[in-house]
Parts: sequence; C-alpha cells; structure tokens
Amino acid sequence: MNRYDQGLMWFRRDLRADDNAALHHALKQCRQLWCVFVFDTDILDTLPRADRRVEFIHASVIELDVRLRELGRVAEHEGTGLIVRHARAQDDLPALAQQLRVQAVFANHDDEPAAHARDAHVRGQLAHAGIVFHGHKDHLIFERREVLTQAGHPYGVFTPYKNAWLKQVDSFYLKAYPVERYAASLAPLPQALDAPIPRLSDIDFEPTNLAQLPMPTGASGAQQLLDDFVERIDRYEATRNFPAVKGPSYLSVHLRFGTVSIRQLASIAYQMHLQGMQGASTWLSELIWRDFYHQILANFPHVVEKAFKPEYDHIKFEHGKHAHELFAAWCEGRTGYPLVDAAMAQINQTGYMHNRLRMVAASFLVKDLGIHWQWGERYFAEKLIDFDLAANNGGWQWASSSGCDAQPWFRIFNPVTQSEKFDPQGKFIRRYLPQLAQLPDAAIHAPWTARELELVGAGVELGKTYPHPIVDHALARERTLLRYAVVKKPGSTPT
Ligand SMILES: Cc1cc2nc3c(=O)[nH]c(=O)nc-3n(C[C@H](O)[C@H](O)[C@H](O)COP(=O)(O)OP(=O)(O)OC[C@H]3O[C@@H](n4cnc5c(N)ncnc54)[C@H](O)[C@@H]3O)c2cc1C
Repeated sequence: MNRYDQGLMWFRRDLRADDNAALHHALKQCRQLWCVFVFDTDILDTLPRADRRVEFIHASVIELDVRLRELGRVAEHEGTGLIVRHARAQDDLPALAQQLRVQAVFANHDDEPAAHARDAHVRGQLAHAGIVFHGHKDHLIFERREVLTQAGHPYGVFTPYKNAWLKQVDSFYLKAYPVERYAASLAPLPQALDAPIPRLSDIDFEPTNLAQLPMPTGASGAQQLLDDFVERIDRYEATRNFPAVKGPSYLSVHLRFGTVSIRQLASIAYQMHLQGMQGASTWLSELIWRDFYHQILANFPHVVEKAFKPEYDHIKFEHGKHAHELFAAWCEGRTGYPLVDAAMAQINQTGYMHNRLRMVAASFLVKDLGIHWQWGERYFAEKLIDFDLAANNGGWQWASSSGCDAQPWFRIFNPVTQSEKFDPQGKFIRRYLPQLAQLPDAAIHAPWTARELELVGAGVELGKTYPHPIVDHALARERTLLRYAVVKKPGSTPT
C-alpha cells in the first residue's frame, strides 16, 4: 500500500462519507487528507437555472460537509470539512491539488464517457505535476469487466448475467468500507480555503419545488427512505407495478448521487433473498439490472450514440414539423391517453416517474407516435432527478427494442390496457390529471369512449378540457410493425 503525507479526496457521484470506497482508501493511505467537491461549470452551464438535481446535490453537499466535520471531531480534529468550489473541474482540481501540495488524489470511478474524458485530462495534469490519481470502484457491486461469460466476453443478455452475478457475489463485495476508524487523517482546512459553502444563488441557480416533494436529500434522506422501504420490501413484488401505490423504494436519486451505498442496499436485499423473501429477491434483481446497464455502457459505449443492435439504426422514424408537434404533445402530457399524460405530468412536476410508467410512456413515444427513441431519452435526461446515462439509455433502448435483451420489436404496449391493468381505479390518473378526476373508473382510461352524459357529468369537454387522442393506437400499431419490418429476421415475426 502506498503511503502519502498529504492527499485529496475528490467527491463526485458519491456524496456520502460513510462506506465510501475512495474515502476509505484515502484516509488509510494519507497522513493528512483534505476533501473537495466541485460544482463543475462544464456540467452546470448546460442546465436550466432551476434544476432539481442541482438543488439535491447542493443540499447533499451541505450534509456531507457536516458529516466530515463530525468525523474530524471524533478524531479530535477541529476545522475539518469539505472544500466546495464552483469552477471547471478539469482545470480546478489539478490546480487545487498543487496548491495543497498533495501527492495523491482519490476518487471513485465514473464510467460515463464525459466523466472518462474529464478524468483522463485531470490524470494527465496531475501526472505532469507528479501527483498520483487513484480511482476506486464504489458505485456498483460489479463494474466494467468483472462479470464475464465463460468465453471471457461481457454479457449482453440479463438473465445469464444475473445468474453469473449471483454466483460471484459474496461478503467481500458487499461489505462496507469503514471510515470512522481512520478519521484521524482528516486535516483541518487551510485558512485560505475555509470558505462557507456557496449558496444556490452563488452558483447561479434558483430553488425548485424540491422541498415540497417527498424526496429527502443527503445521506440522512436516503436512510429515511430505506428504513421506510425495508418495512414493506416483502410487498415489493406485488406492488411495484402500480403507480398509485407506494411500492418501490424511491431510492434511485440517492443511488445516482451516491448518498446511499449500493453495498448497503445490496447486502440487505441479498440477506433477505437468501432467506427466501420474494420481494427482496425481485428488488435485488432490479439492483442487478443497474449493474447490468452500467457494464453495457462501459463495454459497449456505442450505445450512447447508436442502437445496441446495429440493424435498428435503419428504422425510419417520423421527422419534420408533424413529428415535432407530436413530440411536444408527448412532453407536455397532451396525447389524449390519460396514463401517458399522467406519467408526463409526474415527470414534469416532480422529476420522478414510476418504472411502469417509464416503460409505457417510452413505448408510446416510439411505437405509437413513431418518434426516435433518442428524442425521448434526451427529454428524460433533462427532467429526471435520478437521470443516469446507463439506466436511461438502457430503458429507452429496451422500450424501442433496439437494446440488449430488449422488448421484442413486435410487442407494443397498449396504453389503454396498461392503464386498466396497472391503475384500475384511475387513482394515479386522477392525482395528476384533476380535469378527469370525476370520470367513472370505466371511462377514465379512454375518455373518448365515454358516453356524452358521463363526460358532461364529469365536466370533461374533449378537445377543450382534455385532448382527443392524437393517434389511433390500432393504426399506430400497424404503422410500427411496418416501420420495424427492416429488422425482421426469420423466426422473429409477431405471435
Ligand atoms: C425509459 C426508461 C428510462 C429510465 N431511466 C432511468 C434513469 O435515468 N435512472 C435510473 O436510475 N433508472 C432509470 N430507469 C429504471 C427505473 O425506472 C428506475 O430506476 C426506477 O423507476 C427508480 O425508482 P425506484 O428507486 O423507486 O426503484 P426501485 O423499484 O425501488 O428499484 C431499486 C433500484 O434499482 C435500480 N433499477 C430499478 N429498475 C431498473 C432498471 N430497469 N434499470 C436499471 N436500474 C434499475 C434503480 O437504481 C432503483 O433505484 C429507466 C427505465 C426506463 C424504462
């Protein structure tokens, strides 16, 4: 193990102190360690001035600073904490490392292409100054090429990947990285760098409605959600597909920004899975999907620009003015299909969308409206508080059938039957589309089929208070089957 006199821990998508792999190694290897978070202008400059993610990160960074100060005090070191910067990370980080005269910088891996490019630049700058850059796995249980087929290739199909994952996992991969016992290495911040954390307005952002949403921030927020979820994890299998029900964990934003440790979540789920709890087994599978899509992104980076399966790049999607009008109607929840519109209202109002609805809304855009999946992928990337390139790309390529282990191309969700099945009393629709709230259960999934009397009684005027459907699903389905025929292979015809 290398030993350094001084080191710097760089927090990125791992905004917690406890059970943090890079922080653990940094504390063990350095006599004195400083910690930094950079609000990276390369990322922030591309965002709207009110963005829930920036607010979430900001609140979580404040909590991380408090925890680092607490850890310092445990070791009787006053004045520890987080150095918080607002700058171009790829230039600022090497400059700060030199200013502090550290010999090593520690960070956790981030395998998104833009992060790779940034880290390569930082690594080069640091090397130039004689400073070592250490990267650690923290965000996933297995990353990159850790789970391979017997022939030594990355998996492209989920079930064999999951089986191999389950075979390979053991307590070594699930155990926490302790930090408290090494906290004596946390060094007091040098006076010149001991500035207050910038306010949201100091980094040119405005508050959003985050504080009004049930999305508690920081490591404490994650633990609150986890405690609540563990109480109902045995019902996960039965409830997870019903958007009106509190079924899933709502931890995705915390996994995204690392305010919770994946090892903590996976070890809870794995222990319960071993005890035969079905809900926990299903939830563990979801966590494995997360690892799966991350290894897809790391090993097949072409998915960022193109279909995983190249033949799907030949599909001709709609384009021109009409396509843009259809897309705008989808984004704004004006398709006339209540479940799709309620789903889009959820993402627009809260930054979260239930998993079942992500599948329904994505399928509708691609297979009912004939719009390229990348348009939808971009919209979700702008709006989702839990936006994660690997999972979002995986989800969109699944829905458009172009991905690894995707929905077969000829399987097309019917937005009305999905609604009847997963929101039978229209509770979710009523919550997000109050203009339809008075419709009877039977009419709420497809208001255009309601009798005139029902519409009048519910105060619904189609075309005025709520749109007519923008496409006929049955016709759209036929068009999609034709559109997708270019990928037809012998034996892959509709059943
Ligand atoms: C079109 C589309 C886009 C998506 N975009 C994202 C995204 O940007 N970020 C994101 O985290 N998830 C994405 N997902 C996956 C999934 O919808 C969300 O992870 C889930 O809804 C988050 O809610 P939860 O934390 O309550 O999930 P839970 O049901 O409690 O699941 C626990 C965790 O498992 C992981 N997970 C669950 N399902 C998946 C999945 N299908 N793929 C990968 N990981 C999964 C997530 O980290 C999630 O937090 C997308 C799915 C689709 C179909």
